[in-house]
Parts: sequence; C-alpha cells; structure tokens
Amino acid sequence: MAESQVDKDLIRQLVEGDISEDNVTRLQKMSRKDKDRFFQYVEVLQEKVPWDEKILLRISDKLYVVATQEGDRIVKCECGHEFGDYRENWKLQCRIRVRKTLEEFKEVYDPEPACPEPGWQEIREYFCPGEHAAQLAVEVVSPGYPIVFEMLPDLDVFYRDYLGRPLSDESSQWYKDQTTNVTQSWRSRREAH
Ligand SMILES: [Zn+2]
Repeated sequence: MAESQVDKDLIRQLVEGDISEDNVTRLQKMSRKDKDRFFQYVEVLQEKVPWDEKILLRISDKLYVVATQEGDRIVKCECGHEFGDYRENWKLQCRIRVRKTLEEFKEVYDPEPACPEPGWQEIREYFCPGEHAAQLAVEVVSPGYPIVFEMLPDLDVFYRDYLGRPLSDESSQWYKDQTTNVTQSWRSRREAH
C-alpha cells in the first residue's frame, strides 16, 4: 500500500473499527501524515451523522464542534442534541449521575479493591439530554472538585497553522473558556427568585 493509496475508504475502515491490522501498521509507519487525511476523516464523520452542520472537530466518541448557519461554533451530539457554545463546558448541560457509596461504586467496578475510596472520591457520569440518553463521559474526582472541562481546542490555530486552511471566521474571541457564563446565569436565575 503506497501512501497515495490512503483513501477515504481506508479512513472509513479506521473510523468503523474494521481496518486490518496490516493496514493500521502501515498507516503508523508512514513517515509524514498528509493534511488531507484530516479532511478525509471529517468527510467520513460528516457522512455518518444525521445533520448538516459543518464538523470542525470531533471531541469525543459522540460529540463534535460544529459551525452553525448562524455563525456560531457549538458542541453537537451525534444524536442532534445541541449543547451550545463550545467555549462553555458542555457537561454543564448534561444529566449527571454521581456515585458516592461503595455499593454504588461496586456496580461499575470489579473487583472491589479496584473501587475508589468512598468519601475521598466520587464517580460522575454524564449523559446526553437527547433521546438516546447516551453516556458521554465519566470522571472520578474528589467531592466538590469543579466539573472537568476536557477540551477547549484553539480551532483557529489548528486550522491555520497545522492544516494550512484558516477558518473564514477567525477571531481572537474563539479561544476562551466561557463556562462561567453558564454558572453565572444560574446564579442570577436563583437571585431573581
Ligand atoms: Zn446525544
């Protein structure tokens, strides 16, 4: 398999998980990864999702940062659920289950000695509010620890400097954690009552 033969089909096999080990090894051994491969990858993903917003980046199994018609960059689930501005931690919009006791830990850990220590740690499970209610993330942290913002990509730099194809709506405002906007809106809502 020559480098020129890395086509979309191969990328599709990689995404679907049915690529042969042989081809994986060859992909890994290639001296230089071509930038086109990222765009082929995005094309494959775009064909798999049931909506049309342009995928800018896949940030987890089921979640994407997409560009909307209105010029926003939002987090969107494969199911279509929209989490809002990608600069705000999407986990704050999830349904969250927190496991605190050994009994609750044992439901997901085996054997028991592998369990986190109750009181010192808790398990937070994040579920999509959309119809499929898919589990989107899990984190094991100390009680009271802020909800982990896993990924705030600098999309402008990635597209401009790494891919060589700058996004048309570049702005210094895109790379900013705005999660406090959400928590502040909760506070003002509470104060209004
Ligand atoms: Zn979903």
